[in-house]
Amino acid sequence: MQQIESSKEIQAFALESRRAGKSIALVPTMGFLHDGHLELMHKARAQADLVIVSIFINPIQFGPNEDLDRYPQDLEGDLNKCRAVGVDIVFTPTRQALYPESFQTSVEVTKITKCLCGAGRPTHFQGVTTVVSKLFNLTLPDTAFFGEKDFQQLAVIRRMVTDLSFPIKIIGVPIVRESDGLAMSSRNAYLPTKERKEASGIFAALSHAQNLYKQGHKESEELGQAVLKQLGEKIESPFQVEYIKIYDAWNLTEISGLITTPAVLLIAVHLAGTRLIDNLLLEN
Ligand code: AMP
Repeated sequence: MQQIESSKEIQAFALESRRAGKSIALVPTMGFLHDGHLELMHKARAQADLVIVSIFINPIQFGPNEDLDRYPQDLEGDLNKCRAVGVDIVFTPTRQALYPESFQTSVEVTKITKCLCGAGRPTHFQGVTTVVSKLFNLTLPDTAFFGEKDFQQLAVIRRMVTDLSFPIKIIGVPIVRESDGLAMSSRNAYLPTKERKEASGIFAALSHAQNLYKQGHKESEELGQAVLKQLGEKIESPFQVEYIKIYDAWNLTEISGLITTPAVLLIAVHLAGTRLIDNLLLEN
């Protein structure tokens, strides 16, 4: 396994590999890798001749009062995990390498970025699409792997790839969870022991609504209320809810009233100052 820091070097490597007929899979991450990230890498390993993992804490996708300065890092541990999965290249650019002082371009998906996470984080997705476009141009992948945990992000990337005609197949990977159901996330490391235990309530509440759905409760408002009630049932609920919404899983539009299309129940909560997101498909 090779670690590359330079943009020029990785692009030259990618060009050469593509010319030699090798297929490339990209797994973009911000590091502090967990089994969710590793699942993406395993899927990539099974598909392509060469697997490139990028590790970059992308400053432009963080808002002014977010956790950019304390985002967890463990490069040595990450490199060991990548090696164990059989990754070929780990791309670890510096901020300066991706955003030199003269940098002034951005890529924006304009509509489906306004709702859900985009409502509370208005500059977030523009930061994501800009860095992912750069990573695509630097690593020239045939396929790129993204987690369904960030459901809206996956939809935004798919939109961008279609709209801008990137010749890249986007592959979504199901959410990997802890044994108590909590969706794995690098940010879970922020949670103190008590809140970490309480965090399992998020998946429990989503699962409760999914069960109701399977039993025939198909009104989106009723299901949203059921999630809220379950989260807030304790006298002092630890959760501050940012949103609980039901969206059409294909075109990411909100469903009000009766659910008649494949749908996804999405949630964002704050727990002890940590923002957590999760989602669950509503299927029979
Ligand atoms: P991040 O490092 O948090 O930016 O995540 C990098 C990639 O890993 C994104 O495509 C995420 O959606 C994906 N990912 C993060 N957590 C999980 C998880 N628990 N299960 C599946 N994919 C995940």
